[in-house]
Amino acid sequence: MESVVRALLDALGEKVVRTGDAIPERNCNDWAGLPPIRPAALLLPRNTAEVATALRICESFRRPVVPQGGLTGLAGAARPIAGSVALSLERFSGVEEIDAASATMTVRAGTILESAQDAAAEAGFLLPLDLGARGSCQIGGNLATNAGGNRVIRFGMAREMVLGMEVVLADGTILSNLNRLLKNNAGYDLKQIFIGSEGTLGIICRAVLRLHARPTTRQVAFCALPDYPSAVALLEAARSRLAGQLSAFEVMWSDYYELMSREASHLHLPFPAGHAVYVLLESQGHDAGSDAHRFETLLADMLDEKRLLDAVLARSERDVRALWAVRDAVAEFPRILGRHVNFDLGLPIPRMDAYVRACRERLDERFPGIRRVFFGHVGDGNLHVVTNVPEGADAYAIEREVYELVGRFSGTVSAEHGIGTIKKPYLGLVRGAAEIETMRRLKRALDPRNILNPGRVIDS
Ligand code: ZN
Repeated sequence: MESVVRALLDALGEKVVRTGDAIPERNCNDWAGLPPIRPAALLLPRNTAEVATALRICESFRRPVVPQGGLTGLAGAARPIAGSVALSLERFSGVEEIDAASATMTVRAGTILESAQDAAAEAGFLLPLDLGARGSCQIGGNLATNAGGNRVIRFGMAREMVLGMEVVLADGTILSNLNRLLKNNAGYDLKQIFIGSEGTLGIICRAVLRLHARPTTRQVAFCALPDYPSAVALLEAARSRLAGQLSAFEVMWSDYYELMSREASHLHLPFPAGHAVYVLLESQGHDAGSDAHRFETLLADMLDEKRLLDAVLARSERDVRALWAVRDAVAEFPRILGRHVNFDLGLPIPRMDAYVRACRERLDERFPGIRRVFFGHVGDGNLHVVTNVPEGADAYAIEREVYELVGRFSGTVSAEHGIGTIKKPYLGLVRGAAEIETMRRLKRALDPRNILNPGRVIDS
């Protein structure tokens, strides 16, 4: 047995340190779909002190550590590195406290997002972070990747929801600041360095999250539009006329909807395919007397102005689920497309459709017969593109085409999924040399032996 594994076993015991066949298959990969890699050991710490002990030992042996949450990331940041120690927070889970007066929740990193949402709801609050992987992803991973998702338009990214955090540094130092104060300007805001760092600067163990008043009304409509400018008009009208209650603005281009209507027969599509653009519009509020009226008036006016060609309004919780299922059907892509490439682009909202058209044209020309769909959180300037990898084509060639064009449209190669390993070659397209050098300095300062998720995001 390797000496680092021996030292970990001696310090933490067999309950925490797994080796060989005792390492589950699922911890050998994340959802990015690269080939799985078995780590030298899997650690399942049950508290912050065990995380600190593990890092202290791994650092002394200069052994790479790959932190793992729910493993739902699409950028390859949680897949083990050959010979590394994987450290999963899954057993350090649960909501520790909900402080109603401060409207905060103290939560452990391994808590499944949906459980945290449910705990908040039971206490009469909303934890607004929400994404498709809610049933599998974990709070620690959500914060380590600064997750976005469906409600960013209203509540911001994961970063905006964090007040305090407990983090373990590469050398085992515990940085604990479970701050609950909304206003706290005492020195550098260290937690921000770790949020979105993808496990390269420290391991997040606990966090204090902001809660919001739980909405009591919810309006959802699925709309068919004649063109993209109408979607922008609808977005502007929804922002100004829904009293700040707009909570989702999800756009699907025609190729997305057509693919779903052909290949996902279990979905109840609100209307037949054939329109240029589809929008899932949602608002959440607190006034049963006026919220629905305000929402319906907006839709009626937009129909009158021919900005909408058709709209289906949810009348029940079941309708809400059926309409959202059309957008959440992205989980079907592996089944429908087989080998595929996911993109998570950021683009200025006014230029997004021009990008879609240019990208579609370029892909069709370079890779005849390619299947590609465009959709995304357009209200946040976040476009997702998914393509299959046609026979004889190379996934890297597809990536290069898509990303090169993003640079020309002043966009970003990652809006919400992070950089991981998959997008690392393209970081230089959207971040300046001085910025990348500053990231390197930060990495070297906090992790001088380069053990924390090495080679992810940047090379140090
Ligand atoms: Zn997304």
